[in-house]
Amino acid sequence: MDINEKSFELGSKRSIIRELFEYGKKRKAEIGAENVFDFSLGNPSVEPPKAVEKILKSLLESENSMLLHGYTSAQGDLATRKAVADSLNKLCPFEIPADLIYMTCGAAASLTITLKAISNIGDECIVFAPFFTEYKVFIENAGAKIVISEPDESNFQIDFNNLQSKITSKTKAVIINSPNNPSGVIYTAETIRTLSEILRQKSKEIGHVIYLISDEPYRELVYNGEKLPFVMNYYDNSIVCYSYSKSLSLPGERIGYIAVSPKNEEKKLYNAICGAGRSLGFVCAPSLFQKLIAKCANITVDIGTYKENRNILYKNLTSFGFKCVKPDGAFYLLVKCFGKDAASFCERAKTHEILVVPCDDFGIKGYVRIAYCVSRETIVNSLPAFNALANEYV
Ligand code: PLP
Repeated sequence: MDINEKSFELGSKRSIIRELFEYGKKRKAEIGAENVFDFSLGNPSVEPPKAVEKILKSLLESENSMLLHGYTSAQGDLATRKAVADSLNKLCPFEIPADLIYMTCGAAASLTITLKAISNIGDECIVFAPFFTEYKVFIENAGAKIVISEPDESNFQIDFNNLQSKITSKTKAVIINSPNNPSGVIYTAETIRTLSEILRQKSKEIGHVIYLISDEPYRELVYNGEKLPFVMNYYDNSIVCYSYSKSLSLPGERIGYIAVSPKNEEKKLYNAICGAGRSLGFVCAPSLFQKLIAKCANITVDIGTYKENRNILYKNLTSFGFKCVKPDGAFYLLVKCFGKDAASFCERAKTHEILVVPCDDFGIKGYVRIAYCVSRETIVNSLPAFNALANEYV
C-alpha cells in the first residue's frame, strides 16, 4: 500500500457538515443566496471586535517585521503565554504560570496535541454525546479508542450512571465541551463537581490518573451573563483546550492554546505536550496572531447578535411545534426531528431550502443541529420555511 488507508478514507469522505456547506454554495448559485437558509457551518457571523483590527494595524505599522513574522519559541512567545496566563488567573485562586501554557493553531490543534501527549495504544477516551464530530478523528489519531457516554436527554447534562458504566481500567481521559457544540447546553457547577468526584474516585479504583480535558472554544459565548465553572477549580488533573476562533471571530487565523493545571499529579505532562506538538509539527503557532493575543487576551466579540438569533429561532420554532433544547451558549440549536431518521428529515428540510445537519455523527440519533451564526435576515426569512416544514408532519 503506497498510502495510509485511514488518511485516504478521512480525506476522501467529506464530513456531513462540509458536504451540506458545498451543496449550499451550489444551490445559492442556482436560486440566489437569499433563497437558501444555510445553517450548516459554525462559522462566526459577528465581526471581530474593532480592537482586533486596530491592534493588528498597529502591530504591522510599528513592530519590526522580522520579529513580527519570525519563528517564536516552540510553545509560543513568552509575552503571549504570560498574557494568556494572566487572563486565566482571574478565573482561579491559584496561579497558572506561563510555563504551563502552549500556544496552538486553534482548538483542533489543542485537542490533537493533548490527546497525543497523554495516550498510549489501547487507551480509551470518553466523550459525551452529542459531541463535536472531530473528536473521533483526533482520539483515533492518538492511538486511543473513543467511548461514547449517552446523555440525559431531559436536559443534555451528563448522565452519571451511564458515565460510570463506561469507565474501565483503560480510561485515560474524558473530554467535556461546554457551551456545547451541537446542543448549546452549559454544564452547571454541580455537573462539573459531580463529574470531578467520579473521576477522582475512579482514578483511585483503577490506579492511574484520568485526565479531564475541557474543550472551551465557546467559553465566553454564554447568554445569561454568568461565568462558567472553570474546571481547574474542581479537578486537579485537568487540561484546558482553548481557541480564539469563536470568542474573537478569528477561525481562519488558527490561534488558541493549551493550559495545563499546575495541580496535575503528572509533572511530566507539560513536557509531553511540548513533545506532542513537536511530533505533530505544531510548534510555533502563527506569530502575528500570538502578538495580537498578547494585547487582547481579555476581549470578546459582542454576543448580543447570537443571543437575539437564538431568541427569535427558539421562540418561533417551538411555536411551530418543534421540540428544541434551549441553548444557553455557543451558537447552535439542537432540534428533535419529526420522524425517527435525521437524514431523511434533513432531506425534507432541503426541499424548503433549509440546510441543517443531522446529528448522527455527533453521537445522537433523531436530532438535527442548526448553526444560527448567520445573518438576521436569514433567520427571519427562514421562519416561513420552517413553519411549512413543520406543517408537513402535523
Ligand atoms: N471543538 C469544538 C467543540 C468546536 O466546535 C470546534 C470548531 O467548531 C473546535 C473544537 C475546533 O476549533 P478551531 O477552529 O479553533 O480549531
